[in-house]
Amino acid sequence: MRCFGSPYGQTRGLRVAQAETRAHTAPDHHGTAAAGTEPPIWDLVGETPLLPLESPRAGSVRHAILLKAEWLNPGGSVKDRPAREILRAGIAAGVLPRRRVLDASSGNTAVAYAMLGAAAGVGVTVCVPSNASPERMALLAAYGAEVIETDPLEGSDGAIRQARQMAAEFPDRFWYADQYGNPANPEAHYRTTGPEIWRDTDGQVTHLVAGVGTSGTLMGAGRFLREQKPDIRLIAVEPDAPFHGLEGLKHMATAIVPPIYDVALVDETVFMGTERADATVRALAWEAGLLVGWSTGAAVAAAQYLIQRAVPDMRHRMRVVVIAPDGGQRYLSERRRLIAEGG
Ligand code: PMP
Repeated sequence: MRCFGSPYGQTRGLRVAQAETRAHTAPDHHGTAAAGTEPPIWDLVGETPLLPLESPRAGSVRHAILLKAEWLNPGGSVKDRPAREILRAGIAAGVLPRRRVLDASSGNTAVAYAMLGAAAGVGVTVCVPSNASPERMALLAAYGAEVIETDPLEGSDGAIRQARQMAAEFPDRFWYADQYGNPANPEAHYRTTGPEIWRDTDGQVTHLVAGVGTSGTLMGAGRFLREQKPDIRLIAVEPDAPFHGLEGLKHMATAIVPPIYDVALVDETVFMGTERADATVRALAWEAGLLVGWSTGAAVAAAQYLIQRAVPDMRHRMRVVVIAPDGGQRYLSERRRLIAEGG
């Protein structure tokens, strides 16, 4: 385990200076967060577009796949939504910004906390497997978050164990946000992602396909959509093996299953291989000009499989919304995976 940034709980010059500036503008309060108004950048979270995808691999069906472009969130990923909801809950409960928010993350939630927390004067400490992409690690440092690197072989479960241990050891210093068990995570998607999909498809959505990490996206958006349309198909995408390259996704059979994951809500799980996801990422970049992350490649490949498998009659009625959690810019260091064989 390596620790970057300030030691637990210590503030550095800049953060103290920021807090003092805020204290001048809001003398009765302790930072922007407690003043009851949210930092303007928090308002930029959500309302992402749905992009129709016309990949040749989807066959002759026009606009059957609609990509929810979550990389356009201000922190660059879908995790801005639950991070904002979780920070709101901590602020409303009065524990933030008095304590530092602490959580385990495969990277994107950590970046979201770091960005949103910096804007609100909330200290951020995150436990991240050390094999998280260098781009994410650099972003965390750039936003001034405290990073506890955990054993890459233990994946996100190792990060969870580390966060739990620190929360138990220093209860006055940290507020453990627990994105894997915090109802505010699916709630964020129930309140924003689901309604946006419903509105932007005019209720025509037939399938929701989402890779599962914490499962917050599929649980929250899925539950909202199921309430609007009981026969909607909710599809989970998981890596097909415990060791995989699909950052952000969990192989549930061999992992700590998130308490928020209600498998009864899911109609089907598609297990996806890293190589097929990588090939789909390359195809999306070359054929559609969309540079997306590996978990998006996995989810799009799963959607293509569902469409190809369907009988022609059904295929023409399918409107498959696929969550695209982050963009490929976050993985440019893995250049070899992004460049097609012989390319
Ligand atoms: N893809 C990526 C790149 C992610 O960071 C995450 C979040 N861990 C997911 C997919 C899965 O999202 P969720 O946690 O809502 O299941």
